[in-house]
Amino acid sequence: MIRLKTNKEMDLMRKANRIVAIILSEIEPRIKPGVNTYDLDIWAEEKILSLGAKPGFKGYGGFPATLCTSINNEVVHGIPSKDRILKEGDIVGIDVGAVYKGFNGDGARTFAVGEVSNKARDLMDTCEKSLYEGIKMAKEGKRVNDISVAIDRFVRDRGYEIIRDLTGHGIGENLHEDPQILNYDNGQKGPKLKANMTLAIEPMITNGGYEVRTLNNGWTVVTADGSLSAHYENTIAITENGPEILTKV
Ligand code: MG
Repeated sequence: MIRLKTNKEMDLMRKANRIVAIILSEIEPRIKPGVNTYDLDIWAEEKILSLGAKPGFKGYGGFPATLCTSINNEVVHGIPSKDRILKEGDIVGIDVGAVYKGFNGDGARTFAVGEVSNKARDLMDTCEKSLYEGIKMAKEGKRVNDISVAIDRFVRDRGYEIIRDLTGHGIGENLHEDPQILNYDNGQKGPKLKANMTLAIEPMITNGGYEVRTLNNGWTVVTADGSLSAHYENTIAITENGPEILTKV
């Protein structure tokens, strides 16, 4: 059952997600060779608290940090650590959640560390653009699968694979709510989209095979064949005037 937000709740969703957008925007200049992911995490936690919210991921299912920091072949849920030092040519996915007055924000970007290969750049570019292709379909009268199909077509046309084991989701008082939003077309239409739904759309793609495995830390999902992976996520609201991106500064 997908619960539609009241207008008051929509405003709280805007606030929570704006905080996520601020983190994603202000973290970008901090991402450079020599920086460790633990320091990025501490910065993000303090910034979220200073904005009157709480980290959305820390403690969620036991996750130990504010950020997920996923480097190169890591798809999602990389754990920040002093031992993980970013180096020239890496790509790093930063995923962050914030809870404001009981409502969740969630968003992710993949960033280049210094100069990256054309191969990495094109993967990131494709993933980001596919997110916007999906968002275009997030409007009243469409079905959840219309979002999935738009992402699927865009990514495959450019020769990449889509991670299948992880998906986008509804979001609100809980970080993960119905509906599940696949990034590929499974041929099922899914629920009808309505105004005042809030959705986290998040393609994860790779330049190798789509199989993944989870590291021994119980969290970090990596590509099985070691290929590069990119991840972009926006939380959006469906309004009578179309999709509204909430994770925007
Ligand atoms: Mg998410």
